[in-house]
Amino acid sequence: RLRASDTLRPTKIGSGGRIVLLKGKTAVISGGAGARGIGFATAKTFAAQGARVAILDLDAAGAAKAAAELGPEHVGIGCDVTDKADCARAIGEVLAATGQIDILINNAGITQAIKVWDIDPESWARIQDVNLKGVLYLSQAVMPHMRERKAGAIACMSSVSAQRGGGILGGAHYSAAKAGVLGLAKAMARELGADGIRVNCVTPGLIQTDINAGKISDDARVKILENIPLNRLGVPQDVANIFLFLASDLSAYVTGAVIDVNGGMLIH
Ligand code: NDP
Repeated sequence: RLRASDTLRPTKIGSGGRIVLLKGKTAVISGGAGARGIGFATAKTFAAQGARVAILDLDAAGAAKAAAELGPEHVGIGCDVTDKADCARAIGEVLAATGQIDILINNAGITQAIKVWDIDPESWARIQDVNLKGVLYLSQAVMPHMRERKAGAIACMSSVSAQRGGGILGGAHYSAAKAGVLGLAKAMARELGADGIRVNCVTPGLIQTDINAGKISDDARVKILENIPLNRLGVPQDVANIFLFLASDLSAYVTGAVIDVNGGMLIH
């Protein structure tokens, strides 16, 4: 375990003289098969920082392809995060392949832009299942291993939608699910802290990925930018960098935190 004084030093300097933050660590990332998504950007970033990465995605072939793109030591496994047994099976496969899991990034998610009066039981359930229940099930699947090792970093994907309500791309059910992620992550942070496991959240603003591709009109874009002091939409790397901080020992004394990645959208 790190002493306070250790956190002031770079974790490890690689052979090229650059700081390597995740050397010797294994990271599981859900929803990482999408080539333009936040999950894959995070996987690439972690791999570049020395981690061995396991990409879990509904699309098994896409996960395997994404992992192969990173290099032979990385693995891609099919996993439906809404299915508790499937999460346990997938984490078992990761452990069989890698022997350890140090980091879990709960990134998988779906959205649906509908009005609150149009939300039916099926769409409510589907949005809660992937965005919220998936975080619980995948976190539960890594817990026995992390608790036994008395170490682990879990970071969860929430959204600005949880904080400001809705938005042009997500409905009220999505806001509710992502707000649920904040409560779930904080509760996990409290319960798992004594086992050396940190749990944190990110709340991105509008990030350009497949989830919103082609859905933002030029007019909407102008309106959105009026409310973003940094005057641009986010890119996946903006979020991947924060996940890197939360996954690494640089954040050794950070748990139960929520980090906004939104260009200043919520300054008030
Ligand atoms: P993507 O659609 O590119 O990524 C979402 C990934 O989750 C996809 O690879 C998808 O797989 C996967 N996924 C969906 N359902 C499941 C499931 N049941 N089990 C396993 N994997 C699943 O979009 P983003 O990269 O934008 O989204 C990543 C996360 O960031 C999501 O949680 C999203 O809600 C959140 N977010 C995004 C913002 C944005 O503006 N882009 C803003 C705030 C939060 P497949 O494609 O194979 O179905």
